[in-house]
Amino acid sequence: MIPTRRCVVCFAKKAKPDLIRIVKPPKTAQFAITIDTSNKKQGRGAYICKSQTCLQNARKKKAFERSFKQSVQSELYVALETLETELLLNEP
Ligand SMILES: [Zn+2]
Repeated sequence: MIPTRRCVVCFAKKAKPDLIRIVKPPKTAQFAITIDTSNKKQGRGAYICKSQTCLQNARKKKAFERSFKQSVQSELYVALETLETELLLNEP
């Protein structure tokens, strides 16, 4: 069975491959909260749909601030917006 996770923006449960993982590193790690394209980075994960709506609403709703209970650097949202553009370009 494919594991499912809940999107932090729309709260829909989806199969992991349909979601983007955002990871909050362990306290000892040097990297910031970031998109985990490898799905292998250590830390606490939060998931967001690979959909334009959710990617756009993430910033508006401060979805990751809420999920990680801390401030999130704006670079993360910029990266998500870049990803959104890429997704749009890849659409058939
Ligand atoms: Zn969603």
